Amino acid sequence: MRIDEFRHRLRAFGAKPVHEQRLLRQWSHALPLDGGRRRPEDFLPRPLREALPALAMELDGVARLQSRHPAADGSARLLVRLADGQAVESVLLPRDGLCVSTQVGCAVGCVFCMSGQGGLVRQLGSAEIVAQVVLARRLRTVTKVVLMGMGEPAHNLDAVLEAIDLLGTAGGIGHKRLVFSTVGDRRAFERLPLGRVKPALALSLHSTRCELRQRLLPRAPRIAPDELVALGIEYARATGYPMQVQWTLIDGLNDGDDELDGIVRLLGGRRAVLNMIPYNAVEGLGFDRPSWARAAEIARRLHRRGVLTKLRQSAGQDVEGACGQLRARQATRGDGADAAAVAVTSAVEGPRRRLDFPQGGAASARLGWAPDEPREQP
Ligand code: SF4
Repeated sequence: MRIDEFRHRLRAFGAKPVHEQRLLRQWSHALPLDGGRRRPEDFLPRPLREALPALAMELDGVARLQSRHPAADGSARLLVRLADGQAVESVLLPRDGLCVSTQVGCAVGCVFCMSGQGGLVRQLGSAEIVAQVVLARRLRTVTKVVLMGMGEPAHNLDAVLEAIDLLGTAGGIGHKRLVFSTVGDRRAFERLPLGRVKPALALSLHSTRCELRQRLLPRAPRIAPDELVALGIEYARATGYPMQVQWTLIDGLNDGDDELDGIVRLLGGRRAVLNMIPYNAVEGLGFDRPSWARAAEIARRLHRRGVLTKLRQSAGQDVEGACGQLRARQATRGDGADAAAVAVTSAVEGPRRRLDFPQGGAASARLGWAPDEPREQP
């Protein structure tokens, strides 16, 4: 369901903009629709008042919490069931944060990501994105929302921007605490600056080399890393918030000196924060996690060379920690009608597809790429 459709439904019951705003505020804060400072009988038109129980049921049916999986680090993965039986994941993060999904599955197909393995199943409606925040707010306070779960937000731009608009207005989330994460798409860079709510930007870079990045993110738009970073910095300047750059650190693949030089060249002294996250290994995908000590050393070296680097753990590693893993496992247990997720699961459960590769190691072999091949320079 789209929020815009819901607004139309309210108008059909006589709602004026002020009534719409109040009902959307109540909903997005996980409060009863008939609550609020002024009593419904003193404020809402009668047909709207009478429709409230049915509207509340309708909103409750948009997304339901199927299961909650607390992790040792204080985060918790939530499996969220949608009205048509599909499922997505949200993650309760430390410090009142929430990571939400924007699509069922994902078309980008990042080779290290569980959600990317089964392709796109369907788009989420804007109400389904906000409903994940509502479910989380029933469990605890949420003051930050990162659109970094399953899906590529730029591939579902209308719905994502509609959800961001609601969360940054009636939903009461500070604009800087809404984080739009993308692999980089020109449409997003064109439209983000036009909204009345301008979220912070997180750019999933993962490599500074064109060719390797294309292999890691096979269906991401073909934009060279230099240009992507330039577009992100331009948006950061326009909003005044630093750009976040996401870097999944994979052992033997994007952790070499050449990548560090590339990062320094692109980000050194810029208004950007590099979030370096050691890869959360997924059985069957054939990539390895570097040791924490090695990742810390890389972060220290980048810091010394002028790149503000934060080394982060991905949340909830002990509970099907990779994005999409929980959904895939749930599907294989047979309690969901999600054919795509079952297909994904067979990849997870299958034999580990590591190959010995004399020069580049297993990770390079998985990509069919040898380090001594000529590389396209950005
Ligand atoms: Fe899609 Fe993000 Fe997974 Fe890439 S990492 S496949 S963009 S969900």
